[in-house]
Amino acid sequence: MQVLVINSGSSSLKYQVRDTEAGAVLLEGLIERIGQAETALPDSGQRGAGVPDHAAALELVSAALGEIRIEAVGHRVVHGGERFSEPVLIDNEITRAIERLNPLAPLHNPANVLGIRAIAAKWPELPQVVVFDTAFHRSLPEYAWRYAIPEELYQRHGIRRYGFHGTSHEFVSRQAAEFLGIPSGDFDGVIAHLGNGASITAIKAGRSLDTSMGFTPLEGLVMGTRSGDLDPSILVFLGREGYSPEQIDTLLNRESGLLALAGNNDMRSVVEAAGRGERAAELALAVTSYRLAKYIGAYHVAVEGMKALVFTAGIGENSAEFRALVVDRLTALGIELDQAANVIRAKTARLISTEHSAIPVLVVPTDEERAIAEATASLVAAGA
Ligand code: ADP
Repeated sequence: MQVLVINSGSSSLKYQVRDTEAGAVLLEGLIERIGQAETALPDSGQRGAGVPDHAAALELVSAALGEIRIEAVGHRVVHGGERFSEPVLIDNEITRAIERLNPLAPLHNPANVLGIRAIAAKWPELPQVVVFDTAFHRSLPEYAWRYAIPEELYQRHGIRRYGFHGTSHEFVSRQAAEFLGIPSGDFDGVIAHLGNGASITAIKAGRSLDTSMGFTPLEGLVMGTRSGDLDPSILVFLGREGYSPEQIDTLLNRESGLLALAGNNDMRSVVEAAGRGERAAELALAVTSYRLAKYIGAYHVAVEGMKALVFTAGIGENSAEFRALVVDRLTALGIELDQAANVIRAKTARLISTEHSAIPVLVVPTDEERAIAEATASLVAAGA
C-alpha cells in the first residue's frame, strides 16, 4: 500500500510516502515556516519558503506527489491520553477526542489536528490513521505511572506518567528481538532512544513496563535542550523568585540540557568540543552519560534482568563516543563493549558488545515513518 506519513507541527509539516509492500521510501520532504507566508509566494514550491497555513502546505505536498497515487494517510499524533493504546482509523469522533487532549499537549495535538483536517478537506475519500506517541506505554502498570501526589490531581487534571516516543520504542524492541532470534513477546530489554528528545524504556515480555518521559516529554534523561529530572522544588523556588510559568517552561524545555551545560544542543558538536579538551563539553557528556547509566541500572532491575541493551535514534545510532561513555559506566552489570564493533558505521541492527559481555549491547536503527506506514496499511486493509 502507498501511504503518506504526516508529522504535522505548528509551523512545519514533515512527510514521507512509503510503499509498505516494497519497503521503499518513494518521496520525502519538509515544509517549514507555515504561518509565515509574507516572506515568499505560497506557490513557489521552495522548501522553507513559507506558506500561510496547513492547507497551503498540503498543496505543496500534492504538487510534489506528481504521479504518485496515495491510498492512505498515517499521522503521528503526540498525545493519546489514557484512551488510545493502538493506532486507530480517523473519523470525526476520533479527531474531537484528540482535540480534547489538547490541554495535555498544548503545542502538539492542535498542530496534529490541523494536519488531519487539511487532509480530510483536500482528499475526503482517503482513509486516515493516527499513531500515538503515548500508545505503546499504555501497558505501564499503575505503580509505574502514578506520581505520589494527591489522587485529585490525577482525577481532575489527568496528571500521571504517559511516556512518549512509543512508536520508536515498540519498533526498535521488535527489531531487537528479531535480531536476537526470539519472539518479540519474549523480549525483556532496555531501549535508549537518544535523539534531540531522549527517553529510555524498560521492556518486559515485549511490552512497555516503564519509561523515562512522564506527564510531558520533560521528565527523565538529559536531552538536547531539556533538563530531564530535577527537584520539583526548583520550579516553586523560581516561581517565588518571579519567573512566570511560561518562562519556567522555556527555561526547562528550550534552554537546558546539553545546551545549558555545553552551550550547544547538538551531540556531534559537544563530542567534538570535548575532544578539544573543552571542560564544559566534557562535563555535559559526563552528566548526560551518568544520568542515562543510572536509568539503565534501574530498568535492568525493573525488567528482572534485561536480555539486551539497545541504542537507537540520532545519538544512539551514530555517536560511538557517547555509547562508549555510557557503557563504560555499566561494568557492574558485566557489560563489555567491543571497541572495534562500536566504531563501525552501518545502517543495520548490529552487536557492539564482546562475546564475554554478560548482556549484549545492540545498535538498532529506528524508523518511525515505517512503523506508522505499516500500522496504517494494516488497519486500512483490515477495515476494507
Ligand atoms: P530528533 O529527536 O529531532 O528526531 P535525531 O534522532 O535526528 O533527533 O537525533 C539528533 C541528535 O543526533 C543530535 O544531537 C545530533 O547531534 C545527533 N547525531 C546525529 N549524527 C551524529 C553523529 N554522527 N555523531 C554524534 N551525534 C550525532
